[in-house]
Parts: sequence; C-alpha cells; structure tokens
Amino acid sequence: MAIVGHLINGQIVTDGDRNQDIYNPSTGEISKQVALASRTTVERAISVAQDAYPAWRNTPAIKRARIMFKFKDLLEQHADEICSLIGAEHGKISHDAAGELQRGIENVEYACCAPELLKGEHSKNVAPGIDSWSEFQPLGVVAGITPFNFPAMVPLWMYPMAIVCGNCFILKPSERDPSSTLYIAELLKKAGLPDGVMNVVNGDKEAVDTLLADDRIKAVSFVGSTPIAEYIYSTASANGKRCQALGGAKNHAIVMPDADMDNAVSQLLGAAFGSSGERCMALSVAVAVGEAAADQLVSKMAEAMKTLKIGPCHDSSNDFGPVITKQHQQKVFGYIDSAQEQGASVVVDGRNPDIAGYEDGFYVGGTLIDHVTSQMESYNAEIFGPVLQVVRVNSMQEAMDLIDAHEYGNGTCIFTRDGEAARYFSDHIQVGMVGINIPLPVPVSYHSFGGWKRSLFGDLHAYGPDGVRFYTKRKTITQRWPSAGVREGAQFSMPTMS
Ligand code: NAD
Repeated sequence: MAIVGHLINGQIVTDGDRNQDIYNPSTGEISKQVALASRTTVERAISVAQDAYPAWRNTPAIKRARIMFKFKDLLEQHADEICSLIGAEHGKISHDAAGELQRGIENVEYACCAPELLKGEHSKNVAPGIDSWSEFQPLGVVAGITPFNFPAMVPLWMYPMAIVCGNCFILKPSERDPSSTLYIAELLKKAGLPDGVMNVVNGDKEAVDTLLADDRIKAVSFVGSTPIAEYIYSTASANGKRCQALGGAKNHAIVMPDADMDNAVSQLLGAAFGSSGERCMALSVAVAVGEAAADQLVSKMAEAMKTLKIGPCHDSSNDFGPVITKQHQQKVFGYIDSAQEQGASVVVDGRNPDIAGYEDGFYVGGTLIDHVTSQMESYNAEIFGPVLQVVRVNSMQEAMDLIDAHEYGNGTCIFTRDGEAARYFSDHIQVGMVGINIPLPVPVSYHSFGGWKRSLFGDLHAYGPDGVRFYTKRKTITQRWPSAGVREGAQFSMPTMS
C-alpha cells in the first residue's frame, strides 16, 4: 500500500516506525497509509531547516517573492490534481476543493508583495543628526500544525508568508488527509525554493510535541480544535516560542424579522451544509428573532433542504460529501440524538442518509433542528457536521447576549434590511469576524483571519498584515554619524528632545 512520507531537505522520505491508515471518506475504504514521524525524523527536519536558514535569510526579498510568483503559477497549473487529492482523502466535492485552493492561492499572491510589506519604517532626524528606523527580521525556523478540514488552504495561510519573510518552515499537516498538502509543498521545490527551506513532517502528537519542545523552533502557528489549540499555545509559550493557535467555533446567524427570508434561507443553506459543515466558519446556529420569523425560517429551510444533493467527492453535481471519518459520523449522529433527547425537534433528519452505491461512506444527511436552547449539549458543542440548529428569541439584544455568552467567537452574521441594527451588531458583538448579509465572512488574503474568545489563543491573527508581523520581529535602529573630531560629553539624564 502506498505510504505518504515526509518532505525533508527536498526529498520524500518514508522512514518512521509507525504508519496510520488513510480513508477515502466517500467509499469508507482504506486508500493509503501515512508515515508518522518519530522524534528523530522531526529533529532531522529541524536541523536541515536550521542549516538552510542563513542563506535564505540573506536572499533578497524580491528573489524570495519571485519563487512565490512561480509557485502560484504551478498551483494553478496543477489545480485538478490537487483538488482530486483533496477529495480522495477529505471527501469534499471538486467545486468546493477548487474554492479552497483558490483561497489558498490568494495567500500566495499576497506573499508576492513581500518587498513592499518588509520595507519597514523610517524617521529622519529624530534628534539633530540622528535617524531611526524599524526593520522586520525573520525569526529563524518556524512551524505550522494544521487541521484536516482545509488541507490546502490552511497550510497556505502560513508558509508562503513565513518563507517570503525569510524564515525556514516545518509543516505538520493533519494525518487524516496529508496527500494534497505534501503534493503542494513539493511544487515549491519546482518553483525554485532551495532544499531545506520548506519541510513537511507527517505525524501525530509525537511530531507535534517534538516541535513544541525544540529550542530551534522560534514560532508556532496552529489551526485545529480548541482543546489542542489551548495545549499548543500554553506549551509553546511556556517554552519561549511565539504562538498563534486558532481553535474551534460555533457560528451564529441572527435572522431578523425584516430580513429577506428567501435570501437568508439560501445563504444559510450553503453556509450550514457546504463542506458537510466541516468549516470553522460554517453557520451552525440560526437565531430567529420573533416567532413569525422563526416559523417562516424553519418551513422555508425544510423545503429548501429537499434539494440538497449528497454524494461522493468526484460527482461535482453534489452539494456536499461525507464527513471525515466513521467515528466523526457517529459523533455527529450522537449530537442529533442528544438534541432530540433534550427536547428539541428534529425537523429534517440526516441520520439515515441513503447514498446508493456508497453505503460504507461516512455520510451525514443535512439536518435541521428547531427549538434548540442554550442548555443543550448540541448547542454548546462544535458539531462540525451538516447540522443547522434554530434557537428562537424575542429580540436582537437577546440574540446578541446568546452569542456573547458562547465560549467561541469565531464568526457570526446578521440577516437584516435595517442598517442601524446591523451597525450596532457589528460594533458590539464579541466575535472576531462579522458578516452583514454575508454568511461566511472569511477575510480576504490582505486582511487577517481570527476569532475572539476561545476561538483564538494569541494576539496576532492568521495571514494578511498580521501574518507579516507574526513571522518577523521588529528591530529598531537609532543612528548617528558624528562629524570627524566632534565629541559629545557624557549625558546622565534620560536623552530627550526637550
Ligand atoms: P485537531 O485539533 O484534532 O487537529 C489539528 C492538528 O493537531 C492536527 O495536525 C493533529 O495531528 C494535531 N493534534 C491532534 N491531537 C493532538 C494532540 N493531542 N497533541 C498534539 N497535536 C495534536 O483538529 P481537526 O479535527 O483536524 O480539525 C477540525 C478543528 O479545527 C475544528 O475544531 C475546527 O473548528 C478547527 N478549525 C479552526 C479554524 C480556525 O481558523 N479557527 C480553521 C480550520 C479548522
């Protein structure tokens, strides 16, 4: 059986004493195995990155950027292969995989701006004859640890910017769908990146813990579930590393009584069920304001869900595919059971999906649950499946209080025609990314991505301008060139410009 290996110093290596099965979620079959890197393998990757660092750090930013231009071209040329690798291991439909890849490519485009982004700040004559400037230097060897749900896009949030800023990179992708991630990283070599600058180690906790413990790793970017994000952030920080750790989510959409209900329903349909709900920005809770709006929303949504087409990844007429594993499928079913047991009404039930010819695939049908309350387990947990829950409230303030009380604060959205209400909502809501009649307010690559509360540990958000700051450290230089023979006397008070 084919084994997905590691990319170390420009070579694919499959060493390691442990392997793990990779499934095709559309069929339920084991398709490959992935090598799980041992501590020794990870330390070898860190050593080659450390060796590559001095030359890469001194490579002019414009030359680093040129490699990113070429990389973007290669990503576009190989888009079909990448999307089919994503589909085969993640299960997302080709149109959705293409969207993920395009979002990743946009991060590469932004990284091409490195010479502009790294120009620094300059002040002439801060005191007579004295100039001062700040420059942004690379950190050294940095690491990224990524989740299964965006095997192309989330790694591309990280390493193009890290590398173009002059760092060397070690990526530890999800062990559940590593093939597209590895394939993309190999394209960087074809784009002209020197060996050792970008390395991929596949693996599990052993690989991650090695990265977290090694003094040569200067910064860690993590994206994944909240318990692991919290562990990564606290361990990396305790070990003196810079860390940004993005966690889980529970994204609410407020549906106001004045909303264009047909539009809200079609927007919610895509945002709740696209990618089987396995997006950290998926809208998983609709908060309907007023009983009339709630009744209308539930009946129109139930009707619209009759059109949902679910099936294997290679059929691009499908709206969404399976979830990632059998265990995850059972977990999602368990949340639907628990909502029902706790008194909610399952209006559309996805627990018995009937996908002809793909009976062993990990499918969950689109599910709509009404009369959900904030006490229910299914409300509080991140389900990460194609399940939309409806909570009924009496006012916009009640809806906002509900959202603010939730432990997560990744994304949210309001559907309304009232500009004043929307402005108040976006100003006050305790969530990092807000949509106004926009169901998936994922920032474009030249802004930055990040949630609030327990959806992000750290200060800087991912990619965009915060990405440049995360992968560089500021150095501020103050300079004077005294004229020959001019000597200043010792000054014992704090120097000022008074
Ligand atoms: P996960 O937390 O299980 O895994 C993420 C990474 O952490 C993987 O590389 C995995 O190998 C590693 N890991 C897992 N357990 C570990 C442990 N005990 N010690 C060290 N490392 C460990 O997440 P997942 O299931 O792959 O991805 C889904 C989650 O990611 C969801 O919670 C989703 O909301 C979140 N996510 C968040 C964002 C965001 O931007 N906030 C984006 C995408 C996904």
